[in-house]
Amino acid sequence: MSDVIAFIGVGNMGNPMAENLLKSGKKITVFDVSKEMMEKAKKKGLNISESIEALINKEVSIVITMLPEGKHSKKIYLGENGIINKVSKHCLLIDCSTIDIETSKEIGKAADDQNIMMIDAPVSGGVMGAQKATLNIMVGGSKEAFDKALPVLKILGKNIYHAGEIGSGNGAKICNNMALGIAMIAASESLMLAKRLNIDIKKVHEIMKNASGNSWPISVYPPLPGLIDGTPSNNNYRPGFSAGMMNKDLKLAYECAKSVNAETPLGKMALEIYDQFCKEGNDTKDFSAISKVIGGDAWDYPID
Ligand code: NAD
Repeated sequence: MSDVIAFIGVGNMGNPMAENLLKSGKKITVFDVSKEMMEKAKKKGLNISESIEALINKEVSIVITMLPEGKHSKKIYLGENGIINKVSKHCLLIDCSTIDIETSKEIGKAADDQNIMMIDAPVSGGVMGAQKATLNIMVGGSKEAFDKALPVLKILGKNIYHAGEIGSGNGAKICNNMALGIAMIAASESLMLAKRLNIDIKKVHEIMKNASGNSWPISVYPPLPGLIDGTPSNNNYRPGFSAGMMNKDLKLAYECAKSVNAETPLGKMALEIYDQFCKEGNDTKDFSAISKVIGGDAWDYPID
């Protein structure tokens, strides 16, 4: 078996991740249902495949998926032409998509029934983390599968964690993103309050970065432009990480919390705020554009 990586889903995250694998010298072929994304991948020098059927064969030693939601992962792995029935028994399956724990377990069990190793390996760190290969990767699966995946995951990320059995990677990621959704709203509230108080936002941002109000949205991904170069707020709020994706993750957190009777009042409130924002047609904007809702008539920044 030659050492080919099949990469499915080369969107905002998958594209730079696949590029890093290529740069590291891996043989890699990609597929995406979006023609635009395939064109983008081709321009970066990636081999593209016209279909999943053409992509998946016995030469493939690793499959990596980076898809929007559980329904997409389920279709790719278990659907009519599901790849679990197509790959060799020695192939390692890595689903980096952020999806619900139940679907992750269901796919993992189907792989296990066929003696194929699979991990869920969702990531955090955003598009910038994907580009710089500094992602945090949270893995669920057996220790054997984790060890087998480690060399390739190290090409994609900086901190690689074994969170537990299959589904635990997504569990950890869902907990992380609930905090992120809340923190983005909190950062927006603080910076927009500073604006209404006529205090220089740059000063307040600098202070918060070094004080106890710091958070990832403050130090890496501020919700207002002019604070850190290269962020979506500086690029008319093009994603990045879309508000629709954050809404999905907050829904996952809400469902998880309900299933174990956990109280998550701020998570629930963040979900309501993002859900309303998405219903108003903003699901494709970056999630930091939630500052528009918080800022009201004091928010006056360019947005596409
Ligand atoms: P995206 O929408 O930009 O990319 C997903 C890609 O999957 C798209 O290009 C889409 O065309 C493709 N796709 C959908 N169905 C497909 C199918 N059946 N076959 C092949 N391709 C298919 O999304 P993204 O921002 O790259 O996020 C991907 C995953 O990573 C999501 O689960 C998201 O929650 C998670 N994530 C995103 C970020 C971020 O900052 N964008 C950060 C961490 C985690």
